[in-house]
Amino acid sequence: MIKKFEEIKKNTPELITFLKAIPKGADLHTHSLGASYSEFIYEDAIKNNDYYDLRTNIFLTQEEYNKSDKSREIVTIEDFKNNHSEKMFNAYSMRGWDGIHNGAKHFFNTFLCALSSKRTENQMILEMVKRSINQNVKHLEIISECIPEDLENLFINSLKDFKFDLKNAETYCKILDTLDTEENYLKVKEFLDESENFLKENGILDFSVRYIPFLCRTSSSLKDFFVEAYLLMLYCIKDYRIVGVNIVEPEDDIFSRENFENHLEIIRFVYRYLSDKYLNSSKKINLTLHAGELNLTRSPLEDMNDRICSTIFLTRNKHEQKFPATKRIGHGVSIPWEDNADELLKFMSTNKIPVEICLSSNDIILGIKGEEHPFSLYQKYNVPMIICTDDEAVSRSNITLEYLKAVKNYNLTYEELKNLSRNGLEYSFLEGEGLFIDKNYNDIREEFKNTVSLHDWKQKFIDYRELILKNEKLKKQIELEISFILFEQKY
Ligand SMILES: [Zn+2]
Repeated sequence: MIKKFEEIKKNTPELITFLKAIPKGADLHTHSLGASYSEFIYEDAIKNNDYYDLRTNIFLTQEEYNKSDKSREIVTIEDFKNNHSEKMFNAYSMRGWDGIHNGAKHFFNTFLCALSSKRTENQMILEMVKRSINQNVKHLEIISECIPEDLENLFINSLKDFKFDLKNAETYCKILDTLDTEENYLKVKEFLDESENFLKENGILDFSVRYIPFLCRTSSSLKDFFVEAYLLMLYCIKDYRIVGVNIVEPEDDIFSRENFENHLEIIRFVYRYLSDKYLNSSKKINLTLHAGELNLTRSPLEDMNDRICSTIFLTRNKHEQKFPATKRIGHGVSIPWEDNADELLKFMSTNKIPVEICLSSNDIILGIKGEEHPFSLYQKYNVPMIICTDDEAVSRSNITLEYLKAVKNYNLTYEELKNLSRNGLEYSFLEGEGLFIDKNYNDIREEFKNTVSLHDWKQKFIDYRELILKNEKLKKQIELEISFILFEQKY
């Protein structure tokens, strides 16, 4: 297999076929809004809307049109379909980017366009799941909205009479506690049940999807950010389908820059408050945060000095940087610019803090690819990495292409490739115990030692049925190992 892989690597189309079929543990960093291809957005937009604004590339319903300036630049959906759809495809993904001007701006604008289509979150997730199954991905953790809007508003309104001051954080939490009721949780549960049922109704019966709701760096005021931090972390503890909390929007935006420390402090405060409140809960708050998605054209050195380090510890104060709170880092591109990068990389390696690697996205938004990307640096220090898509539709990519870029750019061996795939499940937030001891793939847990053939695994499934069914992570990891055996038999 090792030799064969080296041969296959020489032929890119053959390598694509190989990488499309190879079992992949998971995609742990994928935004639903960025994963929906404009071809499908187009189909739904035609069904849901009556007009299209050529100036802004935004779809409008009849009601929205009535409230608009009714410019001649707003065309009927029929006119749009016949004469202007190309414009939309260019605006809704990086396909229309000229490769010269502000790629990041084009990138972030696509989301506003996609939102106007009224394509639902469930439809986007269904599209992602189908595409993942097609490429042999076992598990998805989707960065998406998974709290009903009216509940979010209810929480936000509870602090509406306060002028925000972090000194009063405790008071705010006490007020928010009054909304931590069974009745409100049921609203979240029903919302998630509905999403699950939607997948089932569409033929997705055995695929694990988990949700990672997100905080907004730029579009939320600090007060709303605080409330949302409470809301998302609370339901991360309460519902097994919400596995973590993330933070999105550009790190280099002026508001984000100014409030970097405030955001960290809010996350840290709420994280500690709710962790203490639910000390005995078996479900914990998992944080996976975008950090270091920066380069010198977007950010001065002063900002990049400690972005990743501070995000891991949720504080800029060096004296308090003892216990890492953040379990995964998204992107981590600016790592070479960190103060004491060597120390930080060793820390990440020892403490197994992985980086969600998004190669296409980093290329498009930051212009960082190939040798300039810190992939090899992380590899050198043995920092775990997970290959992820970030916004596959906007980048016109998919998980196979991301693996392809990793294999080709960093000349991966078959074993390295396989371990990257395993990382997807090992560092997932799936519930229960895992298959490996101390995240070491050469050290399998006692019950499954010396399990080699398909027949052996079948027997283990019978012998340890209860244990396997109780631990979703273990179950998925065993499925992945079995898939590797089946895959390798073909080569
Ligand atoms: Zn992202």
